[in-house]
Amino acid sequence: MSHEKLRDLRCRLGEIADVSAAISLLRWDQETYMPPKAASGRGQQLATLSAIGHRLLTAPELGRILHELNDSSDQLDADDAKLVSETLYDVTRAAKLPESFVKEFEETSSQAYEAWVTARKESQFAVFQPHLEKIVGLVRQKADYLGYADSPYDALVEDFERGMTASELHRLFTELAPRLSALVARIVAKPEGDDPEWLKGNWEESARWDMSVRVLRDMGYNFAAGRQDRSVHPFTMEMGLEDVRVTTRLSPDRLFDGLTASLHEGGHALYDQGFQEKDRRTTLAAGPSLGIHESQSRLWENMIGRSLPFWNYYTPMLREHFPSQLAGVEAEDVYRALNRVHPSLIRVEADECTYNLHIIVRFEIERALIEGQAKVSEIPEFWNAKITEYLGLAVPDDARGCLQDIHWSHGAVGYFPTYALGNLYAAQLFEAILRDIPDLWSHVEHGDFRPLLSWLRTHIHQYGRRKTAGELVRDASGQTPSNEPFLTYLTGKYGELYGL
Ligand code: ZN
Repeated sequence: MSHEKLRDLRCRLGEIADVSAAISLLRWDQETYMPPKAASGRGQQLATLSAIGHRLLTAPELGRILHELNDSSDQLDADDAKLVSETLYDVTRAAKLPESFVKEFEETSSQAYEAWVTARKESQFAVFQPHLEKIVGLVRQKADYLGYADSPYDALVEDFERGMTASELHRLFTELAPRLSALVARIVAKPEGDDPEWLKGNWEESARWDMSVRVLRDMGYNFAAGRQDRSVHPFTMEMGLEDVRVTTRLSPDRLFDGLTASLHEGGHALYDQGFQEKDRRTTLAAGPSLGIHESQSRLWENMIGRSLPFWNYYTPMLREHFPSQLAGVEAEDVYRALNRVHPSLIRVEADECTYNLHIIVRFEIERALIEGQAKVSEIPEFWNAKITEYLGLAVPDDARGCLQDIHWSHGAVGYFPTYALGNLYAAQLFEAILRDIPDLWSHVEHGDFRPLLSWLRTHIHQYGRRKTAGELVRDASGQTPSNEPFLTYLTGKYGELYGL
C-alpha cells in the first residue's frame, strides 16, 4: 500500500530533518554564544550527529521504500511523486561516497583548514600548497565516485548548483567577463574624490542595531519564528520553518555594514520562512540550489537596499539616530556612498560591478585544476595574472590574492560560481518583478515591501525543491538564465551614477 509507505517515508524524513536541525542549532551556537573551551567537545557532537544523519539517510530500508514508491509513482499525486524523486536523488548521491572516503575527506580538509589559517596569516602559499594538492586529489576522486558525462567539474558543481555544468558556466562567464571589465574601465576613467567626510568616524552601536531590526521587520521577516544576533561573519541558519535565525555584525567605523548584512541575511531567511507548511520536515522544504538562495539575498541587499527609493524612506530615520554626524546628509548622498565602484583585491569587499569578476577568476582556476590543465603550484601566478587582466590591479601578496578565501581549504570546489549565478538570477528576477509590479518603487519609498515579498512567495519561495533553479528563473521571468538582465541593470544604474 503506497499510503503506508508514504507515512513511513515521512516519518523517516522527519527524523533526518530533526537531526539536521540539531546540527544547525549547534553550529549557530558555535558562531554566536559558545564559550571558547567548548570548541573540541562541539566538534565531537557535530561529528556524531552527522554520522547519525548519514546513517538515517543511507538506511537500506529507506532506499527500499523509495524505490518501491518510485516504481509506482503514477499512483502518487504530484507533490508525493516529487518528494520521492528528490529524496531518491539525495539518497543515491549520498550512497555513492564510501564511508572511508568521507572520513578521509573530513580529516584532510580539517588539516588543510589549519594550514590555510597559518598560510594566510604569513602570506605564504607554500604552507598551504601540499594540503591543497591533497584536497584537489580527493575532490577529483570524489568526482569519479559521483560520476559525470563531460567534465569532472560537473560532478562537483552539482553539490551546490544542481544541473549546472563547467561548459555552461564557461559560456556564461566568457561572455560576461570582458563586458564587465569594459564597464568597470569606463567607471574608473571618471574622476571621483575620496569617501565623503560624513562617512568617517565611529558609529554608536545600539542605534544601528535598532535600524537593522527595523529593516528586517519591514521586509517581513518574522521575529516570532527567528531572531537576530551578532557574529564575526554574518549568516542565516534554519532549524525548520518556525526557527530561521540571522546574524549581523557592527564594525564601529562602518556605518552601513550591519544594515547591508541584515538585508542580505534577511533575504535568505525570508526564503526559508516561506516554504509551504505541508513540506515541514521533508526534503522539499529547501531551495533547489545555492545560486537561487543567493539570488534572494542579493536582490534584497543590492536591488532594494542600494536603491535611491529605499534610502528616500530610511535616510530621515538614520539621521534621527545620528543627528549631529549626519546633519545635512540626504538620501542621494547615502545612495552615492553605497554605490561607489572601486576595483579591489578582496572579494568580500567588492562592489556590484566588480564582484562577479572575482568569481570568474576563481572558477577558471578551479576548473583548470580539476580538469588537469593547471597544477596547484601554478595558482598564485594564474591568480595574479587574471586579477590584472580583469581588474587592472597588481596583487602585492598571496594573503590579498589566492589565500583570501576559506572555501578550498574546506574542499568546497564548485561553490564559488553560485555567488555569481546569484547575482545573475537576482537581476533577471528583478526585471520580472518591475514588469509585474510597475509601482514597486513607490511602495519601497514608503517602506512597504509587501508587494515584493508576495511576488517572491508566489514565484520562488513556495516551490521549495519542486522546481530546479533554471525552471524557477525561466517560469518567473519568461527567459532562460542569461547575463543580459544583470548587464542591463548595471549599465542603467551605474551609467546614471557615473554619467557614462
Ligand atoms: Zn548569502
